[in-house]
Amino acid sequence: MSPLKYLFLDLNSYFASVEQQENPALRGKPVAVVPMMTDGTCAIAASYEAKRYGVKTGTKIYDAKQLCPDLHCVLARHDKYVDYHHAIREAAEKVLPINKVWSIDEFDCVLMGREQEPENALRLAYAMKRQISKDVGPYIKASIGLAPNSFLAKVGTEIQKPDGLVLMDNLPGPLFKLQLTDLPGIGVNMERRLRRAGITSIEQLWNISPKHARKIWSSVQGERFWYWLHGHDIPHQETHPCMIGHSRVLDPDLRSPEKARLMARRLLTKASYRLRNKGFYAGKLSFSARLLNGTKWHDERAFPPANDSFTFLRHLDYMWERLNHCVPQERFKKVAVILGSLHKQDTISGDLFLSGNPADRHIQEKRDNLSLALDHLQQKYKKETVWMGVTPTTLAGHVGTKIAFSRVPEREEFWN
Ligand SMILES: [Mg+2]
Repeated sequence: MSPLKYLFLDLNSYFASVEQQENPALRGKPVAVVPMMTDGTCAIAASYEAKRYGVKTGTKIYDAKQLCPDLHCVLARHDKYVDYHHAIREAAEKVLPINKVWSIDEFDCVLMGREQEPENALRLAYAMKRQISKDVGPYIKASIGLAPNSFLAKVGTEIQKPDGLVLMDNLPGPLFKLQLTDLPGIGVNMERRLRRAGITSIEQLWNISPKHARKIWSSVQGERFWYWLHGHDIPHQETHPCMIGHSRVLDPDLRSPEKARLMARRLLTKASYRLRNKGFYAGKLSFSARLLNGTKWHDERAFPPANDSFTFLRHLDYMWERLNHCVPQERFKKVAVILGSLHKQDTISGDLFLSGNPADRHIQEKRDNLSLALDHLQQKYKKETVWMGVTPTTLAGHVGTKIAFSRVPEREEFWN
């Protein structure tokens, strides 16, 4: 039996729940979140109370009001949803590090060692729900799926809503109760294609061979899909991350400027380790801090693509000095660093890196070697979990109501 390796969290009726959390007058009421206040527009989210009347994402408000005359329409506030997204991530990370953010209302975590035992996995899932409820608000509900891969864990979140918790262990058990279109990646077009191949249920899909799946999809994606369905943990196609970063809310005893500086350095060391591990170079470093008195600070520096910790730490030192000049010595609440402008190693030519100066080159080689040596140590003595907050490349070009569905919280990952 495959171990439970992933916890997937999907927020229920996300935008509508945020509105209910924010405004007590909307709680327990049918709510539709809309991009503009006119009956000609469509709901971009519906509360569970509204869903009971058949109002869904995409329902035209004119029709929604026929279905549910008491419907409360509220104007979408994307900035709020992004703020909540970050608050929810922060709460969740008190329980488990986040592995991947899939969208504004979905992320997954990797379970390790004894966390993979069903009773421990369930305990962590409950703890995460409680933490979100406590830190962010009781009207923010989530469905959690636990499974051997993130695909099935996501499917688990579809099975019980709202506030679900589903263990996807004895496969295919829970799967056969679902429709094909309940599976991520099977939309109307794919469903039609499957039907043409004589497949109308998940059970039939389960019983074909991986080769057959490849043929139906007419791509290797079909085979990948088949393996996911059967509980294999095979990687998703690598997408190029835009940035690699870490942030940390500081415990009360870590809030002095010196301790905050050390934390920022530690986060940056972790981020640069991840960068090298993924074979990337970064051409930009951003640093943000939030002070206890509410002051927000953001600074960034661009430089020729680099991947060694020392170069990044040097840039951080400059930025820290500048912060010291501009802001009086204060207590810190949060620090964050992001490596941006990422390039794959093989897409940059040597002369992009440095001036031709042999002395510079020699120093750079030393730094590179030292970084690699540190990485070996890190790999050997994995004392702390290293993780990465990646903002996927998204449909940045889209505007309007689509934004908050697909766009994850770039908000520069932090604050502006
Ligand atoms: Mg959701």
